[in-house]
Amino acid sequence: MKPVLLIHGGAWAMPDDEIEAHERGIANALDAGWAVLERGGTSVEAVEAAVVVMEDDETFDAGRGSFLTRDGRVQLDALLMNGENLRTGGVACVERLPNPIKAARLVLDESPHVYFVGLGAERFAMQHGMKLCDNMDLVIPREQKRLYAAQEADLKGLRDTTFSGPMDSHDTVGAVALDSYGNLAAGTSTGGTLNKAPGRVGDSSLIGCGCYADNLSAAVSLTGWGEPIMKLVLGKWAVDRVAAGSDPQEAASAAIAYLYDRLGGHGGVILLGPDGRIGLAHNTPRMAWGLATDVGKTLGITRN
Ligand code: ASP
Repeated sequence: MKPVLLIHGGAWAMPDDEIEAHERGIANALDAGWAVLERGGTSVEAVEAAVVVMEDDETFDAGRGSFLTRDGRVQLDALLMNGENLRTGGVACVERLPNPIKAARLVLDESPHVYFVGLGAERFAMQHGMKLCDNMDLVIPREQKRLYAAQEADLKGLRDTTFSGPMDSHDTVGAVALDSYGNLAAGTSTGGTLNKAPGRVGDSSLIGCGCYADNLSAAVSLTGWGEPIMKLVLGKWAVDRVAAGSDPQEAASAAIAYLYDRLGGHGGVILLGPDGRIGLAHNTPRMAWGLATDVGKTLGITRN
């Protein structure tokens, strides 16, 4: 098989002055993930490598620099799934792991379980060799300012706290890959939504919601307002359409239309079929993405 790597760095109303940083972050992640596929690595390894780069980049809502919870902490969620055998690893509400996707990989590889949360997830990661950091190492001043501004707007009744709009930052990161052995993988990593309640888990790390991979259907990663995406189990909905014969682009567009028509939701999706065909759709003003194939690399910020 010819390998393919498709990644995203969020879908929202990215302002002009943030475009360069997003493009740079996407390019770096694409390079890291593609290098793995080029040397014959697996799709799981490539997805992990690409996501780690974006977690390490403060531009995105993943790893250090993520949105803060209502009480000013970073709480991270991530999922990694292997489409060959459906092995999956997920972590949620971790506060002391700069790279939750690495913990997800450990769960996938080393555990009979699929999903760990909070302290249990951190303990599992530590027992498998990961170093824990201080939560404050993940908090940056930009996000503290953003949180204070949101909380002030809430107090004045200027913000709808039940809704995370398409103009709000949705900088979750994700990747889908097909390796030369014909296997798919998908990964998604996020700091969730701004001012979220502590303990809130969004779609990103929930299997079949913000992420899914199965060689018999497709690999998918989503970003956007998590609650509607979860209610529709939208990742699984999209890959099932590919399994039923839809072209991945058709399935991606249909998923975003369904999200909006059914629940007024918004977001972006990337989709990759086992034959290497891709799909990408969003109903937010912009979406950051990158694609690497044997023909070359393309990246961009798509506008609606
Ligand atoms: N979907 C994520 C969540 O709701 C947020 C995002 O994509 O930015 O947690």
